[in-house]
Amino acid sequence: MSITKQIISPTWIAPVVPRRTLLTDHSLVVQNDRIEALLPRDAAVSQFADATELRLDQHLLTPGFVNCHGHAAMTLLRGVADDREMMDWLTKWIWPIEGRLVDAQFVYDGTRLAVMEMVMGGTTCAADSYFFPEAAARAFSDMHFRAQVGMPVMQFDNAWANGEEDHIHKGLAFRDSVRNQPRLTTAFAPHAPYSVTDEGFEKVRLYSEQLDAPIHLHLHETTQEVRDAINESGLRPVARMQELGLLSASLQAVHMTQLREDEIEQLAANGVQVVHCPESNMKLASGTCPVAQLVEAGVNVAIGTDGAASNNDLDMIQETRSASMLSKLASGDATSLSADQCLEMMTLGGARFLGLSDDIGSLEPGKQADLCAIDLSNPAFQPIFNPVSQLIYTATARDVSAVWIAGRQLLANDQLVESDTSSIVRAANGWKAQVKEMINSHEREV
Ligand SMILES: [Zn+2]
Repeated sequence: MSITKQIISPTWIAPVVPRRTLLTDHSLVVQNDRIEALLPRDAAVSQFADATELRLDQHLLTPGFVNCHGHAAMTLLRGVADDREMMDWLTKWIWPIEGRLVDAQFVYDGTRLAVMEMVMGGTTCAADSYFFPEAAARAFSDMHFRAQVGMPVMQFDNAWANGEEDHIHKGLAFRDSVRNQPRLTTAFAPHAPYSVTDEGFEKVRLYSEQLDAPIHLHLHETTQEVRDAINESGLRPVARMQELGLLSASLQAVHMTQLREDEIEQLAANGVQVVHCPESNMKLASGTCPVAQLVEAGVNVAIGTDGAASNNDLDMIQETRSASMLSKLASGDATSLSADQCLEMMTLGGARFLGLSDDIGSLEPGKQADLCAIDLSNPAFQPIFNPVSQLIYTATARDVSAVWIAGRQLLANDQLVESDTSSIVRAANGWKAQVKEMINSHEREV
């Protein structure tokens, strides 16, 4: 295999480790899929004389963003059933439409659209959970993306599986089929406390322990979820998970609103990790995740966009800005979630969440070259005192101009390098008429 070596010389580099470091006149050297060196530009050019150099004037180079919760294929349902209460949105609209429409091709086409949007916005790794994970995994692999693909588990029948037993069986077969795929990992993805039985959770826990696989779970998403759980079992969802033995370092808890102080301590004591999806929580009026208190208690908090039907985009820059703003508002403390903390949360925090922090999440020699370059030349960014502040508080996904995953450049000058943008968009729009017809017939029914 021939060795490819590239020197990337942007105006600023925020490596995330060490914390709050901002380098100027430095270069990052990439060799094949890994970061070879991070050093002053003069030294880079003389030490690596055989490498090509890419100058990125007025650009900030950061680790690629890690989107820790989403349902990629739901890009095809973007804008469907907006402005509805969460359980109404989910059970009366999203589930019936998915039930009639979702198949392997839907998931493949929707996931490719999502990957395109994520790569164009600087995201290089995502956690996904949806039906037909094998179709999602194929889309991720085809587009050289990095992902944790969920093995969905729920008690309700759907086009992919019938009942919990069948979900687990198919999930395990899927897991075996992608075991040797580069850049792909798997996790059990029981949907939520209200859609999985105690027996289902017990099986998931046993397999998770045997296989050392994480468990990715929507938990404490809304007030109604917590209230219904108390009415049904007398237990709040966190307490039920504790009884079932699920509160552990293997648990990736999604949303986590309506938390009491004792529950925050319980999560911290058990090493549970949390992914915060502020825009989905705000749009569905689900509630507020107490990020500042969780971080204070020592819980690792990552950022996720959730699916495009409840957001409605996969822009990790704006998502993280929303996390910062919401945390400041909710805590009454404007120092909460600073720009530097935000950058760490959307990169290294995400990598930790997925158990990948030895490989990605910061710009350190030996790590995978998953990189994002943000173009800050636009007048809207001037004057630039602190480019990290501009990234978190001013930029959007559309300001990302270059992206690498495992050393391969996927975005250059705002354009996808390998994937055919128009064919991905055409395939996605091919579903529009069917989705529209589904909405119309559903409107007649409800
Ligand atoms: Zn979700």
